[in-house]
Amino acid sequence: MATLDQASYEQLQQQEAQLSQKFQQLQQQQLDLDLTRGKPSAAQLDLSKELDGILNGDYRDSGGADLRNYGGLDGIAEAKQLFSTLAGVKNTEILIGGNSSLTLMYFCAQIALERGLTTDRTPWRQDQRAVKFLAPVPGYDRHFSLCQHLGIELIPVAMNDAGPDMEQVESLLHADPDIKGIWCVPRFSNPSGIVYCDDVVQRIAKLSKIAGPNFLVFWDNAYAVHSLEEGAPPLANIMDYCRNEGTEDSVLIFGSTSKITLAGAGVAYVAGSPGNLEELKKHLGFMSIGPDKMNQLRHVRFLRDAGTIAAHMQKHAAIMKPRFDAVLQALQSSLGNLGLGEWTEPRGGYFISFDSRPGLAREIVSLAAQLGVKLTPAGATFPGGNDPRDCNIRLAPTYPSVEDINKAMEVFVTCVKLASVRQQLNTPTN
Ligand code: PLP
Repeated sequence: MATLDQASYEQLQQQEAQLSQKFQQLQQQQLDLDLTRGKPSAAQLDLSKELDGILNGDYRDSGGADLRNYGGLDGIAEAKQLFSTLAGVKNTEILIGGNSSLTLMYFCAQIALERGLTTDRTPWRQDQRAVKFLAPVPGYDRHFSLCQHLGIELIPVAMNDAGPDMEQVESLLHADPDIKGIWCVPRFSNPSGIVYCDDVVQRIAKLSKIAGPNFLVFWDNAYAVHSLEEGAPPLANIMDYCRNEGTEDSVLIFGSTSKITLAGAGVAYVAGSPGNLEELKKHLGFMSIGPDKMNQLRHVRFLRDAGTIAAHMQKHAAIMKPRFDAVLQALQSSLGNLGLGEWTEPRGGYFISFDSRPGLAREIVSLAAQLGVKLTPAGATFPGGNDPRDCNIRLAPTYPSVEDINKAMEVFVTCVKLASVRQQLNTPTN
């Protein structure tokens, strides 16, 4: 296929006819495939089978407490020890919760809104003023819907290869005192897979100096240990930078084992300054008598230490890498050098981010649906579902088999080509 800009009107018509024919052939296959879900595959979940029954009648923690009973609002000591190494904080700077980091994010945002966190303790919601968050885009739709649900306005910020555009972030904060937070997925971002560079991490650690003492960075490190290959870029430790700046209060670090062990049945944590954790515990005590400590103990016995976790994550990578490769090979072999789209080649995480020519993402998703391939709704990676250039599509390769990915990608690239050729045919110069 010649590049669209070079093709004559007749060549474009010919391409359109060929692609429409291909579209009809694919339609006859009556496929039913799904590339939307950022879920682990069954083979990945099987890696954690050992969790089931691992306690084997021994329900006591290292201090001898019977964990079958109430208590321990902020988690068991062993879990704090294990997960503080993942979060890169001291074991006095972490609270171990239930099964979902998203729940902890919601909880923290709500407390900061209504009651106030940080040593400043001024609630975000005051004097009828708007409360705003910066949302690097493309980003994670649940972060956006969480804010919308709580009445927090989202201001999109561009992402580049090294993280959020920090010039833009800093100038927005200088201009608008109602901005109270920023979402960050700093390692293997959802959906672009990029890793924030050291300079960006360092600048984020200083943001409260611009934004004021009740500003909070929501550092959602959901993919902290989710490399697909050896040598994937590491992430600088934000808490260390905060210590240097005296801004420990401005960062809340979130994580969970949803994509290490069992999705929705793992263990989640929030790390932050002891002052922030004390304040959170005060409120948590009204919601709960304590978390599921049995599951925390199961996870500690299974995951043991950083080395065991790294070895376990290599097993995940061995299952996931061929799926990512299948997507990337299809994109490269069918769309490479045609100028019909750009995509990320992540070295970890759960997603590949694809950008079509502007104005085509919705059309591509709709064409693929007609062929029985579900894609993440266009716009989902932007606040309010509104991608102003209508070009970003999140591809999630982890759940389907390689065979299904190959079929789904044949559909995807056909739809990208068809939508692009039709758009070119309809542009006024033709
Ligand atoms: N954060 C990010 C960036 C995610 O991609 C996901 C799930 O896809 C979550 C959080 C959800 O985490 P949890 O299962 O701990 O609530």
